[in-house]
Amino acid sequence: MDVVLIDLANDPITKLYGAYRVCYSPKTPREVWEDIAAGAVTREKIAAFVDERLKTGHVSPLEQVVFWFGISGVSRSLSHQFVRHRIGISFEQQSQRYVRFTGRNEERLEYIMPESWKDAGRAEEFEKLMGEITRVYREAVAAGIPPEDARFVLPNAAPTNFQIMVNFAELLHIGDLRLCTRAQWEIRHMISKMRSELMKKVPELARYMQPKCGEKRLGYCDEDMKAYEACPLSAVRPHKLQVIEVFKRVRSDAGKPMKDLEEADFRAAEEFREPPTPSPKA
Ligand SMILES: Cc1cc2nc3c(=O)[nH]c(=O)nc-3n(C[C@H](O)[C@H](O)[C@H](O)COP(=O)(O)OP(=O)(O)OC[C@H]3O[C@@H](n4cnc5c(N)ncnc54)[C@H](O)[C@@H]3O)c2cc1C
Repeated sequence: MDVVLIDLANDPITKLYGAYRVCYSPKTPREVWEDIAAGAVTREKIAAFVDERLKTGHVSPLEQVVFWFGISGVSRSLSHQFVRHRIGISFEQQSQRYVRFTGRNEERLEYIMPESWKDAGRAEEFEKLMGEITRVYREAVAAGIPPEDARFVLPNAAPTNFQIMVNFAELLHIGDLRLCTRAQWEIRHMISKMRSELMKKVPELARYMQPKCGEKRLGYCDEDMKAYEACPLSAVRPHKLQVIEVFKRVRSDAGKPMKDLEEADFRAAEEFREPPTPSPKA
């Protein structure tokens, strides 16, 4: 598997600064960006401001920063999972219609074999099947069956390549799901390589790529308790139910017991009133 960060939005930290500043400042975007261009805001201030904003739930500015990655040598099992992400990401994937897999390898087509096959002592069987698929595929192509039809015999193990463009909000969301130990090993490995690539260029942003339980993300696990207990990260991160229990206890110790959270939700919604419209000053 090879993963390369091909390119990224020019100066992503300043882009984020501009996007957040426009939200929180009476200045126009032109004025915000003139301040930046004139050096009126130091790099340190920009970085510190962005770092503070990244700790909040104000995510939409992250959509304004994009990255391009090149990915090769991943299986079609992985690609089926990867292309399920549909917001804030675009994919170009190697075609099995236009590319004839006559192969650099004379013996058989290339394929990805999970370690578990080797561990189970079944690597030979796997390879034998790949050899047979290679024969049937090549003979089909040689017999004039178009690659788009010959490919019907290709396995999930067949390798594929991508060029993708993804925005930072979606990249973090993908990290939430696919760096989690619940995700499949190959896609976890790929996303972790994407994080390593990003770390070389923009560590300030890359360190926010964590599984969803990471302290820079949700901060707790929201999977079922059985999965949580089986996860090695449970040694360092809490489960959602534990967080709620601790919160209830702290509230109770402070003399403000919260017996029924659901009831509190409804009460808060019912008690909410629009603030009165201020009367115009005389
Ligand atoms: C551990 C794991 C196991 C999985 N198992 C299965 C499985 O067995 N079968 C299966 O089919 N899939 C499975 N998936 C895939 C999963 O269901 C999602 O399709 C995939 O993770 C893409 O994530 P996403 O829906 O968050 O999409 P993204 O494109 O990454 O979406 C980003 C976010 O945008 C919002 N969004 C996107 N589209 C809509 C919409 N139409 N309406 C409202 N909000 C929207 C959501 O908040 C969404 O989370 C699995 C995924 C994981 C991580």
